[in-house]
Amino acid sequence: METTIAVIGVKENPECIEAKLSMAGEIIKRGGLVAFPTETVYGLGGDALNPESSRKIYAAKGRPSDNPLIIHIANWEDLGRIVSEIPATATKLAEAFWPGPLTMIFKKSDLVPSQTTGGLDTVAVRMPSHPLANLFIKKAGGYVAAPSANLSGKPSPTLAKYVVQDMAGRIDMILDADGSSIGLESTIVDVTTEIPIILRPGYITQKMLSDVVGETEIDVTIYDSDSRQAPKAPGMKYRHYAPKGELVIVEGDPQNVVRYINEQCAMHEAAGTRTGVIGTKEQLAQYHGASSIKNAGSRDTPEAAAKQLYTFLREFDDEKIGYIYTESFADAITVPITRASSDTGIGQAIMNRLLKAAGHKVIYV
Ligand code: AMP
Ligand code: MG
Repeated sequence: METTIAVIGVKENPECIEAKLSMAGEIIKRGGLVAFPTETVYGLGGDALNPESSRKIYAAKGRPSDNPLIIHIANWEDLGRIVSEIPATATKLAEAFWPGPLTMIFKKSDLVPSQTTGGLDTVAVRMPSHPLANLFIKKAGGYVAAPSANLSGKPSPTLAKYVVQDMAGRIDMILDADGSSIGLESTIVDVTTEIPIILRPGYITQKMLSDVVGETEIDVTIYDSDSRQAPKAPGMKYRHYAPKGELVIVEGDPQNVVRYINEQCAMHEAAGTRTGVIGTKEQLAQYHGASSIKNAGSRDTPEAAAKQLYTFLREFDDEKIGYIYTESFADAITVPITRASSDTGIGQAIMNRLLKAAGHKVIYV
């Protein structure tokens, strides 16, 4: 399949943008697939109400079809057609966080095909804040099913070039625009229960949610490597975001962390394997001996680390790194990071993604 790559520059004039998004919308309405930018990560979109489009999305990603898709909408008024009930908690959360990086799980209406929800009778819905995503969804008929636009098992793409790498030849069109400003997937909250349950941590933290709706819970399987319970968000059970190299999280006293990482890098490099490090600005100058050292920014601004994390993992693949060591971002957590914990801001979402990418390998030093 030939993939049209439509570049949308930051200074592009509104008519050109409109024309490109209209073309993209037509592709969706005809049952085709278009990758598009959002503030979280790039999405791989198809018509959410067309079962054949959902089937194509799974095929393009190589994703198991029991892993349900998130439906992206552009107007609050459009929600009513795809859900059978709008709980009061959802209305409050939408007022606070939509459009934005929050996905809510509702009971679905009959309009939503079971192919889109992986056979579940619930449906995940999000309203992105990225202006291009918003306009694209409107042009596409209002309901765009979209997982992240990566091949299954690869880090989610936060830059268009990674969408092109994974999806060229597999989908109809790629909207090539700016990099994702948040860089991690949306927070997912189940609002079908009396107390909302967080199924996937993200930029919208538990504290932010609780400030709006009172008590919230976290699905215990999120941090537990050997839980026998199935996660409530089916996608969370798959090994995700995996770099080719072996990733290890190193946690403890900063000096011990630096010493351990430097020793490991020296050992592997001496044996002929390239090593990589993800470090914060505060400690960066102390790392030596690794082939590739990534600056995750200051510990005071973990948003910068969140934004760059997936890019780092992809760059390590390109750089043929065999062992990757990262500092932990569990700073504020007083219990072991493998347990659900009190609020740690976006650090919680970063740790959730890192633990998955690392296959839960954590060294305490
Ligand atoms: P992605 O689209 O790649 O960000 O992944 C979507 C995530 O949303 C996966 O982890 C899914 O399992 C989860 N999800 C989608 N629909 C539902 C649903 N109805 N109930 C629970 N989790 C869902
Ligand atoms: Mg994904």
